[in-house]
Amino acid sequence: MSQVDTTTSRVAGESNIDIASLVGDLLSQSFEQADRESVNGALQAVRSVRTWLDALEIRVARRVRQLHDVGRADSPVTTLIDNNGCSGRDARNTLDREGLCADMPLFETALGGGRVGGAHLDAMARATNGLSADAKAAFAAHQQRLLALATQMSPDSFERRCRDLARSIRAQLDAAAEVDRVARQRSASTVRQWTDRTTGMGHTHIELDPERHAALWTSIEAHLASVRQREGNSGRPFAELQVEAVVELVSTGGSTSANRRLPEIEVLIDWSTLVDGIHPTTVCETVDGIPLPIQTVQRLCCEADVLPVVLRSSGEVLHVGRTARVATRAQRRALAALHRTCAHPHCQAAFSRCQIHHVIPWERGGRTDLDNLIPLCTEHHHLVHEGGWSLQLHKDRTITLNRPDGTRSFSGRTTDRLLVDSQRSH
Ligand SMILES: [Zn+2]
Ligand SMILES: [Zn+2]
Repeated sequence: MSQVDTTTSRVAGESNIDIASLVGDLLSQSFEQADRESVNGALQAVRSVRTWLDALEIRVARRVRQLHDVGRADSPVTTLIDNNGCSGRDARNTLDREGLCADMPLFETALGGGRVGGAHLDAMARATNGLSADAKAAFAAHQQRLLALATQMSPDSFERRCRDLARSIRAQLDAAAEVDRVARQRSASTVRQWTDRTTGMGHTHIELDPERHAALWTSIEAHLASVRQREGNSGRPFAELQVEAVVELVSTGGSTSANRRLPEIEVLIDWSTLVDGIHPTTVCETVDGIPLPIQTVQRLCCEADVLPVVLRSSGEVLHVGRTARVATRAQRRALAALHRTCAHPHCQAAFSRCQIHHVIPWERGGRTDLDNLIPLCTEHHHLVHEGGWSLQLHKDRTITLNRPDGTRSFSGRTTDRLLVDSQRSH
């Protein structure tokens, strides 16, 4: 292989990776009798060659794009499919990589030198998918720090960091977009069922936004725990018990559970995010690591079936639990005596379907006192937390409701029990 011109196979700006001699070594070896060391060495060489090829492909794809722009080549996707033997999806993947490297040239160099893999680029492409051009530019401005992370991390961990960064950028540039995304996830949620004609098995597919998905699994896991404790179940396979728990839960509402309790969703949030909003090292997600908007977690703090685990900035747990955070049964009863319905002036949702909202949020020192509590239905609870509406509760229990732009929507009484009215008139 010595006739290969090694100078051109080096990647500009990178250290001394000599692709030609790596390939030459690989070609000269036979692996049938290879020991552990030479197998490991070969795998490392293959990786170097592969990332070098990935970088080369990006450079070629860039030229294809340029040729297409001046009318001298087919579209980049078509050109890649026809000449590279790849699928349409692979072609788009390559072009995504090219686009990223155009904004973050350090990554292209690092890829050519084998310091990061193509999977790192793909992780960034997924994390920045759907960002506006401004947000993508803000993301690319972090390329130095991102590259330092990518060289030390697996693509999976790196993708998480990229998602965190993308989220904080999105929150800074457009706070409403984050809430919109969750609203879209909610309305795009589906339950589907079908039967597989070959196996005869029934399928049920539930696609949910992260908040409700976490709530669903909290219920399933709570019920599963009680199913496992039943006599004779200790030796049975986990998968079997899980199916039993899900089916029982859906068909009986979980009433066979020995000690039924309200499900709790765990969400993780750090204190400064909860109080002051998003920052570069924000933690705000379900226990499974699915990011949630801050406004959603602030709303969840009002609700009885959610357990916020609040972290100090150093990562230790600051506050776990519901102590003095949610309204007691006696307080609910007292509120029910005042409000027959949701406190929104035009809402007829029954009190029993309402959540008890802290007018001054719990995390801002709002007390769990009647003076600070008001019932809101799910829709109006969303409105004040995620929708940007503001609600004030005055000493005489009249309320002021302002629109997101600060203009007044309503001011007056929303207590609607006749009993209370007649008592007051005495
Ligand atoms: Zn609330
Ligand atoms: Zn309402």
